[in-house]
Amino acid sequence: MDILNLRTPKLTRRDFIKLSSASLALLGLSQALTPRVVKALEESLGKPAVIWLEGQDCAGCTESFLNSLEPDAISVILDTISLRYHETAMAASGHQAEAAMTKTIEEGGYILVIEGSIPLAEDGLYCTVGGKPFKEIVMETAKNAAAIICVGSCASYGGIPYSGPTEAVGYLFRGTRKHHYFDSVGDKPVINLPTCPVHPERLITVVIHYLTFGTIPPLDNFNRPIAFYGENQHENCERRGHFDAGRFVTDWSDPNQQGWCLYLKGCKGPWANHDCWKRLWNGRTNYCIKANVPCVGCSEPEFYESFSPLYERRFDVELPGIGKVDIGKVMATVGGVAAAGVGLDMLVSKTAGRWKENEENEVEEG
Ligand code: SF4
Repeated sequence: MDILNLRTPKLTRRDFIKLSSASLALLGLSQALTPRVVKALEESLGKPAVIWLEGQDCAGCTESFLNSLEPDAISVILDTISLRYHETAMAASGHQAEAAMTKTIEEGGYILVIEGSIPLAEDGLYCTVGGKPFKEIVMETAKNAAAIICVGSCASYGGIPYSGPTEAVGYLFRGTRKHHYFDSVGDKPVINLPTCPVHPERLITVVIHYLTFGTIPPLDNFNRPIAFYGENQHENCERRGHFDAGRFVTDWSDPNQQGWCLYLKGCKGPWANHDCWKRLWNGRTNYCIKANVPCVGCSEPEFYESFSPLYERRFDVELPGIGKVDIGKVMATVGGVAAAGVGLDMLVSKTAGRWKENEENEVEEG
């Protein structure tokens, strides 16, 4: 039984078609697959079961998900899956809630959604739910799950709590170091959907892909769907022209600098791979850079610790064959640099290099 039980299903076939079509577009798949997706959604009514855990989190991913407008996440989730356990949203509490989770674990084959990081210090006692360390709850629920979806930066890499005293980790990764903390649960699919918070469309689309094809979409080195994290913010930024021309915001209150590049204000766009620039947030109205806020790189393992202070320039760009660039000189000579055929856009090659470097330098932590 769905413990949320907030209302009766209301999605129509027309809604399913619209949702299917949108999901295929988000995944870059052919619209010819729409009938197959619609059929899968209709047949999956009330299935599969979902357990949504919250560890060291702010419930921001839950808020983001439940407040999504397009597609209407609540309709989709209430009408197409059976949400058995969700600490923030469920009406049940205490033993009744724990019993629902235990029964779902026994049945197996559910989707496990993890929100928040997992504290390892003091045997995981920093975060206990129902008297159990969160670490243990994750192990128990992961054991019989069909697939595991880590929503947000905390569940993916440790996020902000990674910088605290609790030795917080993501399910698979600890910051920039790759480490499979929960190997014992087997090799079931694990999908990371970082950003702080999770974008609801990314979650819904992954669930729909799973319901339709029985598989997860292709993933990158950080277990992120390539369809959502395969492109770089800086390469696609609407302020890129200002970057190339050496026009950087240095004074927030100067109206002449409105819309200029935010690199000197700490923008981590050159190191951030995601599709926020085209997906947008809040019903497709806006996203950080469009709202005059530097990209903080929350899609990356370096967020938060290695990217902080978030609103200060943290790294220098590098040009192939030249090395680190003094951004002050670049601002003065950018015309000359471009004329010499060494466009600033070449710094993006450094971005691609980082992923390779991470993989090659993987360090297993004890
Ligand atoms: Fe856009 Fe940031 Fe790149 Fe500037 S540094 S072009 S604001 S992504």
